[in-house]
Amino acid sequence: MLLHGTSRIDEKGQLEIGGCNAVELAAEFGTPLFVYDEAQIRSKCRAFVTAFQESGLAFQVAYASKAFCTMAMCKLIEEEGLSLDVVSGGELYTALEAGFPAERIHFHGNNKSIEEMEMALDTGIGCFVADNFYELGLLNQLGKERGKQVNVLLRITPGVEAHTHEYISTGQQDSKFGFDMMSGQALEAIQFALNAEALHLLGTHCHIGSQIFETNGFVLTVERVISFLAEAKAKLGFEPAVLNVGGGFGIYYVEGDTPRTPGEYVKAIATTVRRECEEHDLALPELWIEPGRSIVGDAGTTLYRIGSTKEIPGMRKYVAVDGGMTDNLRPALYQAKYEAALANRMLDEAEETVSIAGKCCESGDMLIWDIQLPKVRAGDILAVPSTGAYGYAMANNYNRIARPAVVFVRDGHAELVVEREQLSDLVRLDRLPKRINL
Ligand code: PLP
Repeated sequence: MLLHGTSRIDEKGQLEIGGCNAVELAAEFGTPLFVYDEAQIRSKCRAFVTAFQESGLAFQVAYASKAFCTMAMCKLIEEEGLSLDVVSGGELYTALEAGFPAERIHFHGNNKSIEEMEMALDTGIGCFVADNFYELGLLNQLGKERGKQVNVLLRITPGVEAHTHEYISTGQQDSKFGFDMMSGQALEAIQFALNAEALHLLGTHCHIGSQIFETNGFVLTVERVISFLAEAKAKLGFEPAVLNVGGGFGIYYVEGDTPRTPGEYVKAIATTVRRECEEHDLALPELWIEPGRSIVGDAGTTLYRIGSTKEIPGMRKYVAVDGGMTDNLRPALYQAKYEAALANRMLDEAEETVSIAGKCCESGDMLIWDIQLPKVRAGDILAVPSTGAYGYAMANNYNRIARPAVVFVRDGHAELVVEREQLSDLVRLDRLPKRINL
């Protein structure tokens, strides 16, 4: 198992993260437990910012909060000077409650409700990433009612399909997101926004997929988008102030994953933007990106306690943990792969091949197939790294399982940033109809 950030094996042969012994964290806070290495998150934020500073371009790095959105995380992102991308009233509310500056928030989504748009407008967010004509019309109307100019980026689909799992590719033409570039729809959207009294068109946005290792998908995207923007300049006289190329930068999950560094992604994108703008005689726009997974993914480790096992002779040994698809939906949703280790016995030799099962009443609730581990015992602590993105964010209460606690660790201190749900939380919103009591 690859150790990320400040993770290491301590003198007892146990996993340590952020200077905290993982077995002690499991005992103190219970399991399943999300442990975030704060120094690792900060170092990723800084790596993106430094790379942009070196590029000499004006920029914004907006953390895509969908990857992991809690008040503590928003606060940390604020401290690092990044912007924030939200996709719902809930994420927006979380950020505002954490005191995140509204003007550094970008609001995404393919079906923002009127209430969400009003909330965002009234709290003064930085910009909307508009997804469709329905939204543009509503934003214009709401802006007029308030006597406000609404900053918008247009989400366009450049027809680039990144090399990643099909379900998480969003840049291809047949997508529920954005204005299609190739059919002329995106040009029409620019025209619409330019003519709309209360819209202030900043530029365009695109996002080509997730967990992308190669830089060439981003290079091709920038080439296509800038050539489209040159057409927009020629036909409509519009020159963008902002070019947002989204997120999708890959991280290490398992052997064979070969992500680039933040610096390599930024350098490839920034160099292409400079070159293409010069070639097409466009003024250099501000370059924005929206990393989610690459900021927080490998900073998160989930700790589980091992319980039952089932061995089918000659076939397979199932080892069950006290969580599963309720705290990590990705294996069930995308067949995502993970590594793991026994946090309490990191130096023990691998002796058996087992498959890690969750505890949900669902055969598909498998976290890891066929992993080599030391002989497991009930009570062992299983550590699954790289669970920082889209793990807690997608956590759910299937089987009425309470969602785990989350701690941030740093320099030997662990701080609870999300409490573990209690059984009483699970029925908090339930109501018994009077007629059932009769
Ligand atoms: N921006 C947009 C529009 C997205 O849809 C996503 C993820 O789905 C992201 C940014 C973040 O992507 P990632 O976490 O892969 O960096």
